[in-house]
Amino acid sequence: MSSKKLLHYCPLLIACCLLFFTSCKFRQKAELIIHHAKIYTVDGKFSVAEAMAINDGKIIAIGTNDDILKQYESDSITDAKGKAVFPGFNDAHAHFVGYAMSLLTVNLVDTKSWEEVMEKCSAFAKTLPAGTWLTGRGWDQNDWVAKAFPDNTKLNELFPDRPVMITRVDGHAAMANAKALELAGIKPGDRLTGGDIVVANGKLTGLLIDNAVDLVSSKIPAPDLAQAKKALLLAQENCFAVGLTSLHDCGLDFGTVEQIEALQKSGELKMRMNIMLSDAKANYDYAFKRGKIKTDYLNVGSFKVYADGALGSRGASLLQPYSDKPAWSGFLLSKPEHFDSVASIIYAKGWQMCTHAIGDSGNRTILNIYAKYLKGKNDLRWRIEHAQVINENDFHFFGGNSIIPSVQPTHGTSDMYWAGDRLGPVRVKGAYAYQQLLKENNWIPLGTDFPVEDISTFKTFFAAVVRQDAKGFPAGGYQMENALTREQTLRGMTIWAAKASFEEKQKGSLEKGKFADFIILDTDLISCDTAVILKAKVLATYSAGKKVYGK
Ligand SMILES: [Zn+2]
Repeated sequence: MSSKKLLHYCPLLIACCLLFFTSCKFRQKAELIIHHAKIYTVDGKFSVAEAMAINDGKIIAIGTNDDILKQYESDSITDAKGKAVFPGFNDAHAHFVGYAMSLLTVNLVDTKSWEEVMEKCSAFAKTLPAGTWLTGRGWDQNDWVAKAFPDNTKLNELFPDRPVMITRVDGHAAMANAKALELAGIKPGDRLTGGDIVVANGKLTGLLIDNAVDLVSSKIPAPDLAQAKKALLLAQENCFAVGLTSLHDCGLDFGTVEQIEALQKSGELKMRMNIMLSDAKANYDYAFKRGKIKTDYLNVGSFKVYADGALGSRGASLLQPYSDKPAWSGFLLSKPEHFDSVASIIYAKGWQMCTHAIGDSGNRTILNIYAKYLKGKNDLRWRIEHAQVINENDFHFFGGNSIIPSVQPTHGTSDMYWAGDRLGPVRVKGAYAYQQLLKENNWIPLGTDFPVEDISTFKTFFAAVVRQDAKGFPAGGYQMENALTREQTLRGMTIWAAKASFEEKQKGSLEKGKFADFIILDTDLISCDTAVILKAKVLATYSAGKKVYGK
C-alpha cells in the first residue's frame, strides 16, 4: 500500500478505532441485563420493551435490545429467548403469616379415607421434633366410603408420646389422641355447654364436637420463633414460585410486625410486605406512637377492620333476608358507632383504613362512614376489602369518593355455586361486580385472600378474565359482564396493588428507577389461548434484581 493510500484510509481507520474505544469505554456496567424478552412494562401506556439493565436492585434502563446492549455491559446477561416478562405479582389481599402457620400443620383436605389421614400424619410427624404437637386440618368423613366418624385407636398406636389433634374441614369437630386428651385433662363423662366429648363403651373416642374442640386447641402452644421463622421462609418460597414478590397481609398485631421486620432486616425475608394492623387498642397505641413504617420491604400505614362475616356461612350482613334463610339477614360484627369512631381516629391521624365488607348492608354501612369523612376526596386511599355484594344504589359511593374496591377474583368462582341461593337472582348481579367497581374508581387492586383461596396467581388471572374455576365451570363464564380484560387484570395484580399501599412510585411496573422485581413466564398471559392460562409456569422470579426462584 502506498503512503498516499494509507493517508487516504487513515481518517476512516481513526474513526473506526475511536468508535471501538468509545463504545468500550462508555458502555456502562450493569449488574444484570435481561434481553430478547417480551417485557410488559405495565407503564401508563402498557408499553412492551425488549431489554433492561439493572443495578443496585433497581432498573437503570429499559428499552430495545439495541439500546440496552449497546449502552450496557454486564457479567450477568440473561437471554430470555422471547419469553414474557411481567412485574413481580403483588397480592393485594392475603394472610401471609396465617398461611405460613398453616404450613406447620398437616393438610388433610381431599383425603379419601381415615387410613390416608393416618399415612399423612405419620409422614408429617417425621418433620417435627419429638414430643411436640402434631396438628392438622381438612379431613371430611363425608368424602370417604366409610362415612361414620372414626375413633382415635390408630392415632394412639401411632403416637403414644406425641399429642395430636386433627380438625375436620369445617372446624366444628376434631379428633384428638389419648396424649392430647390427657394434657387437656379430659375424662370420660366430662360435659360442657355447646359441645360434646364423644364416649363409646365408657371410653373416650377422641372425637370432640364444637366447644369441646377448644378444650384441646387451647392447650396447643404457639409456634416458637424458630418454627415461625421456618414457616415464614417456606411460605416465601411458595410465593416466589407463583411469581409473588410483594403482598398485603391483612390484619396482624404489632408484635408479629416486629418479627417480620427483624427477618427482613437480617435479609432472610425478601418478600415486600404491606401490613395492615388489626383493629385493636394495643395496635392503635403502637402505631400512633411509632408512626408509619416505610422501608424497601415493609410498609405499615393502615388498619384492617371487619364489618361483617362471610356469605357462605350466612354471616355477611344483608339489607334484606337471605334468599335461602328467610328472616335471617346476617349481622355486623360491631355496632356502626364502633366503625365510625375508629374511622374518625384513623382519619385524624392520616392513616389508611381497610374494611372487610361482604354483604350489601356491611358495605353500605362502611361506605356511608367513609363518605362522611372523605367528603369526595380519598387522599388516604381508604379501601373496602372484598366489596363482595353491593346494592345497585351504592356503587356510586366508590366513584363519588374514590373508594378503593380491593377484590379477589377467585372468591367469585369459588362462591358461584351457591351465591345465587344466598342472594337470589337480582341481588347476585351486584356481587363479584369487578368491572362495574373498576368503572367507578378507575383502578382496582386484585388479591386472593390466601390461605382462604389457593395462593395461585394464575387462578386469579384466569378467574378475573375468564370467570371460570379450575374445572372450567361454568361454560362461557360466570356473570361475564363483570369480567376484567387481561390488561386490567395484570394492572390489578401489579401497579394497582402497589397503588393500594401508596407504593406505585417504587414498584408495580418495570420502569427506570423502580425495584427490579420481575418474573419470566413460560406463557404470555396477555396473548395466549385462555385454555393454557392455568397451565402457565413461572420460569424465574427476581426480587431487587436477584433471582429468588428458578433455575
Ligand atoms: Zn382476608
